[in-house]
Amino acid sequence: MFRTPFPTTVKLGLLRLKNTTPQLQDVVIVGGGPAGLSVLAALKNSSKTAHLSCKLVEGGDLNKIRNFDETAYSNRIISLTNKSMRFMQKIGSWKHLNLDRMQFYDKVAAYDSSSHEALIEFTNDAINYDPMGAMCEVVNIQKSLIARIDELDQSDCLVDNVKVEAIEESTSEIDWPIVKLSNGDAYQTRLLIGADGYNSPVRRYAGIESRGWAYDSFGTVGVLKLASDQYNLVSLQRFLSSGPLAILPLPEDDATFVWSAKTEVASILKSITNDKIFVALINAALRLEETDLKYALNKLQVNPDDTSVIEDLQWRIELFEPNEQLDIPVVIGVQPGSRASFPLKMSHADSYVGPRVALIGDAAHTIHPLAGQGLNMGQADVASLVAAIETGIDRGLDIGSTLVLEPYFAQCFPYNHALLGVCDKLHKIFSNDVYPIILVRSFGMRFMNSLTPIKDFMIKTLSV
Ligand SMILES: Cc1cc2nc3c(=O)[nH]c(=O)nc-3n(C[C@H](O)[C@H](O)[C@H](O)COP(=O)(O)OP(=O)(O)OC[C@H]3O[C@@H](n4cnc5c(N)ncnc54)[C@H](O)[C@@H]3O)c2cc1C
Repeated sequence: MFRTPFPTTVKLGLLRLKNTTPQLQDVVIVGGGPAGLSVLAALKNSSKTAHLSCKLVEGGDLNKIRNFDETAYSNRIISLTNKSMRFMQKIGSWKHLNLDRMQFYDKVAAYDSSSHEALIEFTNDAINYDPMGAMCEVVNIQKSLIARIDELDQSDCLVDNVKVEAIEESTSEIDWPIVKLSNGDAYQTRLLIGADGYNSPVRRYAGIESRGWAYDSFGTVGVLKLASDQYNLVSLQRFLSSGPLAILPLPEDDATFVWSAKTEVASILKSITNDKIFVALINAALRLEETDLKYALNKLQVNPDDTSVIEDLQWRIELFEPNEQLDIPVVIGVQPGSRASFPLKMSHADSYVGPRVALIGDAAHTIHPLAGQGLNMGQADVASLVAAIETGIDRGLDIGSTLVLEPYFAQCFPYNHALLGVCDKLHKIFSNDVYPIILVRSFGMRFMNSLTPIKDFMIKTLSV
């Protein structure tokens, strides 16, 4: 369980602070990830909140995002729900997305390594044949948001290449928190928004506890080349005993993958330097029985460059009886340098708000990627927080007061809590090789697949 102390001052790294009088701001946002940029774009887009003076502080270089080299795909590619896409349209960033680099999909299919029959499919007939979602690079989303902020003539709000090094309570009459930056500047802000990710300094400053656990698993990601472009309307996931492997569509014959696997397997995947071995392993993981896959993994654990594994797996795949219920893509390549891995964890803050503080995105919650919901939850946080601030302004209230911020917490926390719980249980049930659990989940998948009204309800809840 992660516990945070309750400091009134959070100091992060070495302080090189000038003794400056802090500049007063209505809103300071810490973090220029998708959540932070979304909240700034949304505040500046709304006629009710556009007048608020805002600063967004980001430790990284936002010009790298503005000038992102679009020749290859980046490896952080996520699934966007229709709700998130509508929100991006509402705040005006959608038109700045490079749609040629995105792929909409109409079908979600998941199958279990335990049997060909353990299969569940979701199609878009329940949502009037609208796309069920779209795959999009995180950098494409960030770039579109920065373009929207620039278009609204608010580039001055962006303070990048600068870290928040300390957050202090005020000792003066104005009780607003003071945010001290690595360049020596300081802001004193009516409302401090933590969009600063999993290790959120703002959450620590506010003394808000975050509970959860690390999964002893990593999500290995990368960009693939498929043998055909006929799979680009399908989001496919196979449940293996070490965790799920998802193949998610990109335009034409490209795809991205997320292979969530226990640390032991993930470290074997990481140690493979030869992309041809990796491709052979992905094709095997999509089709073969677990024993065949484990045999290859054991060989690679001894020698990650053992190319004999390629021929061996090919031979086994030729013997494999195709799953007639499901068309499984053939992977022919991996984009050089695109493989990376991220530790997986679940965490949820006890509250998203405190006096003059609001948390959004991964600062408030971190979720297993198997349902592709993390960033979408962050987008919903932003929509709800901005609506709460708008209402506060309509009523003439102080936007930093908990009276204004509480409705945001009340609206988002229960849904996020339920989703975190569901994904956590799914992870535990599916990343498991205990025989009775395999039997129950295999039966459960087949049973669920026949329950069209329940599947339709799930699709409507998650996609619309
Ligand atoms: C393998 C994997 C697959 C995923 N797939 C999906 C998916 O399909 N769909 C989906 O919706 N989500 C998905 N997610 C989750 C999604 O990527 C995250 O939820 C999302 O990127 C979080 O965005 P954020 O802006 O909240 O935080 P972050 O992206 O972590 O941004 C935080 C920012 O704060 C800045 N920062 C932190 N501290 C400071 C400081 N002291 N000073 C200045 N700046 C600071 C950082 O530099 C960073 O830019 C996936 C995650 C993983 C790991």
